[in-house]
Amino acid sequence: MSSSVITASIITIGDELLIGQTIDTNSAWMAQQLNAIGIWVKKRIAVGDEREEIWQSLDETIASTDIILITGGLGPTADDITKPLLCDYFGGKMIVDQEALQHVKYIFQHILKRPLLERNMKQAEVPDNCTVLINQRGTAPGMWFEKKDPSSDSKKIIVSLPGVPHEMKGLMQTYIIPRLTNLIADQLIIHRTLLTAGAGESFIAEHIQEWENSLPSQIKLAYLPSYGMVRMRLTAKGRKDSGIENIIDQKFTELQELVKEWLVISADEPLEKAVGDLLQEKGKTISTAESCTGGYLAHLLTSIAGSSAYYKGSVISYDNTIKEQILKVNRITLDNHGAVSRETVTEMLQGLFDSMQTDYGIAVSGIMGPSGGSKEKPTGTVWIAYGSPGNCQTKSFHFRFDRQRNIQLTAVNALLLLFQFIQSEG
Ligand code: ATP
Ligand code: MG
Repeated sequence: MSSSVITASIITIGDELLIGQTIDTNSAWMAQQLNAIGIWVKKRIAVGDEREEIWQSLDETIASTDIILITGGLGPTADDITKPLLCDYFGGKMIVDQEALQHVKYIFQHILKRPLLERNMKQAEVPDNCTVLINQRGTAPGMWFEKKDPSSDSKKIIVSLPGVPHEMKGLMQTYIIPRLTNLIADQLIIHRTLLTAGAGESFIAEHIQEWENSLPSQIKLAYLPSYGMVRMRLTAKGRKDSGIENIIDQKFTELQELVKEWLVISADEPLEKAVGDLLQEKGKTISTAESCTGGYLAHLLTSIAGSSAYYKGSVISYDNTIKEQILKVNRITLDNHGAVSRETVTEMLQGLFDSMQTDYGIAVSGIMGPSGGSKEKPTGTVWIAYGSPGNCQTKSFHFRFDRQRNIQLTAVNALLLLFQFIQSEG
């Protein structure tokens, strides 16, 4: 293996990935895991269940990277062709691996409690020139191949894993990450991420241009716009003893100072996590009243482990009768101003505080589309009320996207407003 940065490619196999039926989450997860131990992912390739295509991707990635991780196509059905292909590719022959066979038998007898078919026994057949990695979560074992690279004195590592995400993760955690960690003990990849709001990426880029141009070559800056905010990521690659950690920390401090006007959080985490941490730190609670987001805010807040410490609940007042009966919004307010108005969300928030007794709250109401808009209130009009019982703030938005994205934008902006509100209280 070469002494500079160790590189990897990830090949995901399956027609379902190409037709968009399954989203390739495997390679994203694997890339994160590899990054975390200092391996730089150079390529991610998705190929169909086609022998020629898989063969070609192997040729291509072996020529350009040190490690190749492959997922998919290990199953017992005819469309799963990875195993015989790898056997041919590395010039081996198929043999029955006794440990894998015992494992397949055990799973059918004790866990699945189904008769074992000839087809299933095939799962224990592996090329004789690989190390078999027993899959505790399924029947298809992982396979670890090593190949000498004649052009240098280094070796290439090729690992084949099942496509089922849960099984792939088990094998990665049990065998592959620990083995690779040992191999590349001196490498480091570090990411530092922050989130800004209130300025576009081009504006920020102009603002920090001089600083960005002076970054050392081992450090890269990326702009990741999302939901009207901009995430900025610094990435450093290098050897552990090169002082790279200090350099990136120093650059990250400088960046935070440069963008402090728009800085929201200095970590790679979603806003719902930042809101949760802030509430926990202050020992305060929150609740939500949701019309147009239909529970999405509640979903975001409760997807954070430990949220029961600060999140009390949501009233999904999708229909006006619920706004009236549960949140005590005045009928006259609804008649005079409509459900999507400053007046209605203000009363929703007040009603929420009366019933939930929380320190902070958010109320949202909007027209998410595609229909329902009018000249005065076009599709994408949203009103958000947020704050504390004695201090209710409101803000309106006009989103221009499809229903799903409008819902996400509403929720994320509501969280941002509340986050900044709590911070401003000191
Ligand atoms: P098994 O031995 O369980 O059949 P396999 O290696 O044959 O595993 P596949 O048949 O290719 O795996 O895929 C199994 C399941 O995993 C399918 O539901 C597929 O949609 C899903 N899957 C495959 N590849 C990926 C991927 N890259 N990201 C997310 N899901 C995937
Ligand atoms: Mg498949």
